[in-house]
Amino acid sequence: MRPGELDADVIIIGGGPAGSTLATLLSQAGHKSVVIERDIHPRDHVGEALTPSTNFVFDLIGFLPKMEEAGFFHKSGVGWTAPNSPIWKFLAIRTSDYPPPNAIQPYSYNVERDLLDALLLRHAFESGAKVLQGVAVKKVLFEGDRAVGVRAAATDGWERDLFARTIVDASGRRCLLATQLGLKRKDPQFNQYAIYSWFKTLGASPPGFEDFLFLHFLGLERAWGWQIPMRNGIVSVGVVTDKGDFRKSGKSHEQFFESLIGRNRTMSQTMQSAERIKPWWIEGDYSYKMEQFSGRGWLLVGDALRFVDPIFSSGVDVALYSALFAHEAIEQSWRGNEQGAFQAYEKRVSEGVDIWYELTELFYRLQLLFTWFAISRRHRQDLVRVLQGNPYLPETQTTARQLIVLMREFHDRTISNPESLLRPAGLRRG
Ligand SMILES: Cc1cc2nc3c(=O)[nH]c(=O)nc-3n(C[C@H](O)[C@H](O)[C@H](O)COP(=O)(O)OP(=O)(O)OC[C@H]3O[C@@H](n4cnc5c(N)ncnc54)[C@H](O)[C@@H]3O)c2cc1C
Repeated sequence: MRPGELDADVIIIGGGPAGSTLATLLSQAGHKSVVIERDIHPRDHVGEALTPSTNFVFDLIGFLPKMEEAGFFHKSGVGWTAPNSPIWKFLAIRTSDYPPPNAIQPYSYNVERDLLDALLLRHAFESGAKVLQGVAVKKVLFEGDRAVGVRAAATDGWERDLFARTIVDASGRRCLLATQLGLKRKDPQFNQYAIYSWFKTLGASPPGFEDFLFLHFLGLERAWGWQIPMRNGIVSVGVVTDKGDFRKSGKSHEQFFESLIGRNRTMSQTMQSAERIKPWWIEGDYSYKMEQFSGRGWLLVGDALRFVDPIFSSGVDVALYSALFAHEAIEQSWRGNEQGAFQAYEKRVSEGVDIWYELTELFYRLQLLFTWFAISRRHRQDLVRVLQGNPYLPETQTTARQLIVLMREFHDRTISNPESLLRPAGLRRG
């Protein structure tokens, strides 16, 4: 039974980047929020490379000084290596070459997510949000079709129903509310699998590129590797491929990792001296979308609303911007016309995330497409700007849409030309 007095204006399920950012924004605007986090931070999490677009939101919530104080790794660009190119011959994209409008600084960050997420949750608390850690939400409570609260429980048997005007699910890939409502749809195209860990003593990156993230292409259309340098000489290294490839290989996770790394000359050279310092982490089946991501009294943010393959490091961008737009939508909903405010939220977020999705889809159809556009004098600037994130900005969206059309045309021309050297090896003549 719902009590007369509510526990908060907003209950937020999950204290990852999406939940903590939303709680901070609400608190800074004078609203009461409670974040309920199942784990106790710091906790490990995948997703260490941040796009330049995230700087804007971190700045907006007053968190950038804390990132500098923590000494997170400054990343000034991205390098792409081809499988058979000479070692350390790569395509370099420096963030500051084409900064987004009003860029705050010429770099973004690579972060240890256990530390970043703990600091962000603390920032929410210090901004005025209530935070419960080690407490899991079991389900969202409804009156009719309106979300009114949550049932929360701790492992020691403590259990309580909490109520608020708006309920936000930020539970990440756990997708608590969408699962409860049967709204989650697995992506029909992608069935990716990732294996990664942290390493030290990797071979050095070339002088001038020590602060670059590297994407290593592996000569398989559905596969790629990442090399993300962090503080203290520690580097996150992972490979992504179609889950079916792993199943068919009959190899252990470690053997499979080694075999994929061996497909790229630069990656295998740089990993020769590497020492693994963490267990293997495995991630799979992570691409999905929801039929809707808002309803009466509820909204989804971050991974809880959709997950797009991580090739362009878009996850935290989606988490932060959906939190930002959710905050605006919630405030509007309290002024009346909740349905209109939440539908506008869905449209705004979908239009941006669709762009990440369509770029990812194109990448998986023809990886060389991106290299081709990145070296083209005509398209390089647009491609770099779009990959820097925030595809919700109208001007970025226009650029991205034009680029996607051109890329599709280029793709179709390439695939229908049996002589083209840009075709995937399996389709090439001879
Ligand atoms: C292989 C791989 C590589 C990736 N690489 C990158 C990258 O380089 N850059 C990038 O930006 N993104 C990357 N991502 C994506 C990134 O990890 C996510 O997009 C990001 O963490 C989303 O933030 P979030 O706050 O929505 O969810 P999360 O960070 O997952 O936070 C959700 C929180 O909810 C809590 N929770 C779950 N269920 C409950 C419950 N019932 N009750 C209470 N709390 C609950 C969880 O404990 C968790 O702390 C990658 C993802 C994968 C799979």
